[in-house]
Amino acid sequence: MPYKPQAEPTKAPYRADVKITQLGEKIGDPVKASEFPRHVLRFRNNRWAQTVGLGELSDEQWVNHFGRFQPLPDNLDPPLALRYHGHQFRNYNPDIGDGRGFLFAQMRDHEDRLMDLATKGSGTTPWSRSGDGKLTLKGGVREILATEMLEALGVETSKTFSLVETGEELFRGDEPSPTRSAVMTRLSHSHIRYGTFQRIVAEKNADLMHALVDYCLTHYYGGVKTDNPAVELFQKTAAKAARLAGSYMTAGFVHGVLNTDNINITGESFDYGPWRFTPYWEPGFTAAYFDHEGLYCFARQPEALHWNLAQLASALTLICESAPLVETLDSFPRQYGEAFTEHVCWRLGVESEGFDKDKPLVVAAEKALGLKTVTIDRFFLDWGQDALPEAKEYIADEFALFRNEMAKRTRARSSSHPYWQSNNPCSMHIEEVEAIWDAIAQNDDWQPLMQKIEDIREMGKALRSL
Ligand code: AMP
Ligand code: MG
Repeated sequence: MPYKPQAEPTKAPYRADVKITQLGEKIGDPVKASEFPRHVLRFRNNRWAQTVGLGELSDEQWVNHFGRFQPLPDNLDPPLALRYHGHQFRNYNPDIGDGRGFLFAQMRDHEDRLMDLATKGSGTTPWSRSGDGKLTLKGGVREILATEMLEALGVETSKTFSLVETGEELFRGDEPSPTRSAVMTRLSHSHIRYGTFQRIVAEKNADLMHALVDYCLTHYYGGVKTDNPAVELFQKTAAKAARLAGSYMTAGFVHGVLNTDNINITGESFDYGPWRFTPYWEPGFTAAYFDHEGLYCFARQPEALHWNLAQLASALTLICESAPLVETLDSFPRQYGEAFTEHVCWRLGVESEGFDKDKPLVVAAEKALGLKTVTIDRFFLDWGQDALPEAKEYIADEFALFRNEMAKRTRARSSSHPYWQSNNPCSMHIEEVEAIWDAIAQNDDWQPLMQKIEDIREMGKALRSL
């Protein structure tokens, strides 16, 4: 099956639809946002705000909702800091939860999907431990860049909805401090994490587990269709996790912190900390400076997601047999292979002909990329055009094999978009992220960030042009 990316966002009215409270009091705790000394609107994502009927708010209204967190009409009041546990770098941690954010609102989007608006950096909650509950401005800027780039590259991701600078000085070990503060709002298709299930099994709350499974199937997977909902949810989630892994690899993305509390039951990627894009096809490329073992390095991400699925399966055995879950876990490598293949074909702009027929092309692509004669983004720009490239970087035997496979393929995309003739791959390597941040930090110059967002969105259009 060819991969079809998410459609361009379109306008729809505001339709509040609070469902989370159906899960009772144990799912989250009522909290209040911090009061901030300043509110300077730095980014509003009108492209996605229009899908939930919020694109036409004035800036003042926007800041009231996404800087001061005045409730949206008919929505959560007060917001909820969600409860969850999680495996962090494979160690179980029962002391986490929304420590610097909360679920602010739920609503329907243009495709009638149930969406959440949730915060990062809105102050302490019962789950903050020793943290200050805050987000650095740089962290917020980095999250904008990650989400825009991933969306353009066909990864299902949360959208960075709003970023408001809040005028505090924060101290962080990994940024020159004091550093500027911000509060971010993200739009996401659920904030139910694998770790949400882990907390419920730790509490041996079978009733809540049943309710949560039902909630997820009903609101995120089109309803309960079998008499074994836990297995049904697991199968659907596993398919989504395989797709997420395949899309990360094709994008050259390294999330950095693939802990079970950072993995959404809908398979939508979210929560971006020390992420990076690997410039070259380098299996061991690691994003987080604190990931000493390379547990979450580039090529181990499919394995990490598989391992996380096993933890979800383990939690679900509170209410179902393990055999069908194990069967689904065993199918993950194949599902990952299929998803990866579909994403590579999509990024190359060729018709996907099914896993077995596509495999030689994708194996050849991986071998060619592994030579590291060009960056990943350069590779997909050059080979994504109609005419196969002849540059000296592409003369090795591995490229002859790949060229041969490409020559057999039918184009699935128009390469008339100017991006394909630009000779200028849109990338998101660390030097560029730092340069965008430096312009803000040193000169309060937001232009490079705005320009980059524009460029990324253009590349997104080029990849989708039919
Ligand atoms: P993360 O690595 O961002 O997914 O965070 C892991 C856990 O630490 C979550 O429970 C977060 O809410 C919490 N956390 C991270 N940073 C802070 C902070 N500055 N203040 C309070 N809690 C935090
Ligand atoms: Mg997190």
